[in-house]
Amino acid sequence: MPIKTRFAPSPTGFLHVGGLRTALFSYLFARKNGGEFLVRIEDTDQERFVEGGIENILRSLQWAGIQADAGVWLGEKGEVIQKGAAGPYTQSERLGVYKKYVQELLDKGNAYHCFCSKERLDELRSIQEAGKQPTGYDGLCRSLDEKTKANKLEGGESFVIRMKTPREGSTIFTDLVRGKVTFDNSLIEDQVLIKSDSFPTYHFAVVVDDHLMGITHVIRGEEWLPSTPKHILLYQMFGWQIPEFAHLSLLVNEQKQKLSKRHGDVSVEDFKEKGYLAEALVNFIAFLGWNPGDEREIFSLKELEQEFSFDKVSKAAAVFNREKFDWYNREYIRKMSDEALAEACRPYLENAGLVQKAEFLTHAVGLVKDRLVRLSDAPEMMGFLFAEELAYESELLIWKKSTRDDTAKILKKLHVFLQSIGENDWTKETLEIKVGEWIRENEYGTGDVLWPMRVALSGAKNSPGPYEMAGVLGKTRTLQLIQTGHKRL
Ligand code: GLU
Repeated sequence: MPIKTRFAPSPTGFLHVGGLRTALFSYLFARKNGGEFLVRIEDTDQERFVEGGIENILRSLQWAGIQADAGVWLGEKGEVIQKGAAGPYTQSERLGVYKKYVQELLDKGNAYHCFCSKERLDELRSIQEAGKQPTGYDGLCRSLDEKTKANKLEGGESFVIRMKTPREGSTIFTDLVRGKVTFDNSLIEDQVLIKSDSFPTYHFAVVVDDHLMGITHVIRGEEWLPSTPKHILLYQMFGWQIPEFAHLSLLVNEQKQKLSKRHGDVSVEDFKEKGYLAEALVNFIAFLGWNPGDEREIFSLKELEQEFSFDKVSKAAAVFNREKFDWYNREYIRKMSDEALAEACRPYLENAGLVQKAEFLTHAVGLVKDRLVRLSDAPEMMGFLFAEELAYESELLIWKKSTRDDTAKILKKLHVFLQSIGENDWTKETLEIKVGEWIRENEYGTGDVLWPMRVALSGAKNSPGPYEMAGVLGKTRTLQLIQTGHKRL
């Protein structure tokens, strides 16, 4: 049977990086095994629905390069489309399907109507909690006689449909990540399958859909592990083939807390906005719980598609280490061409009011490429190249043991000398040779010249080298800045 995996998000707003990892592992497993990967929207909990949530999640997946073979996807204009033969792939459009299958369970005696009120269930819960017993439905309506049931239905009483879980035995399965897992059936409650609003619960819809869509491997977060025996029981009641399961460990921060919005950024969108590259995020996320078994750390999505396997997926919680993430981003930024990096930085610079021609930008990013961690740092690191006037204290121009007067004299002479260099020679390399010779001939101290030159061009203590900056700024601008520096002294 060809392998089929899926990612089944609920449209509650944004794509959490943990969700991205689930999607990525499902996608990689399908690709590695020549299978199919689909995206299904699980929107049966109407209260948790967020306007635009579906588009948002799909946009993040698309940005990360995780392409679905079937299911819900974004069209060319960013509209939600569905493709594939087993659709619709949005659960709220499949209500008729669930109705049909729950009827099958009712007919077989594997499910029953439950009329218990919210008050009764709340009271039951308090009693169970007070008695330190496991909480859960006690099965009161399990044995309701046909007549009472018919009367209640006729009287229009509100009801839910529950599954009749076996009271004895255990449910055992082998998880691809965690190995053999055993659940005692007596602890599995009679789960609601259809709610009073006639929508299915997650548990029911997920089983019906995974079966009808031919899913062979259910890959999801470990928070769903306790639900799995309920799902397996449903497969058994229907007589359907049970898929394989892989439950991925939790993502935690450096303090070993669950990665949540309360502790900072967690959504793919947030990281995109901060200027992390999709390739860096995907590479970093792949290593949260997986590794290739050797020292290699840099993997493109294509390479991951060839390497991924569950043998190398760990069941320990995976730490979302920001420093490592920054390291990845820096690595990927360094691999970009100056042109591509300039274009990637452009929106951040424009947002900060720093607009420049493409050619200048391309040279400018070359100056900071080695140190740039996030694209959003570009305005701060490159701002001095665009500023009308640089704000710095004149003392900053004076090199260690030099004096104000000497520095002023040197800047003045440097200004005169630089004027003699032709526009055609105005490159980092030629400037380095010419200014270097000039320093030696005049027996100046290197620091006495290059320090004030660097400060005059950048207005900062830390900046790229003076020749590189002068090369990017061009002759006119360089002369102007050196003159301003001189005047300040
Ligand atoms: N809709 C569930 C979620 O939001 C999917 C769980 C599953 O993959 O079975 O995480």
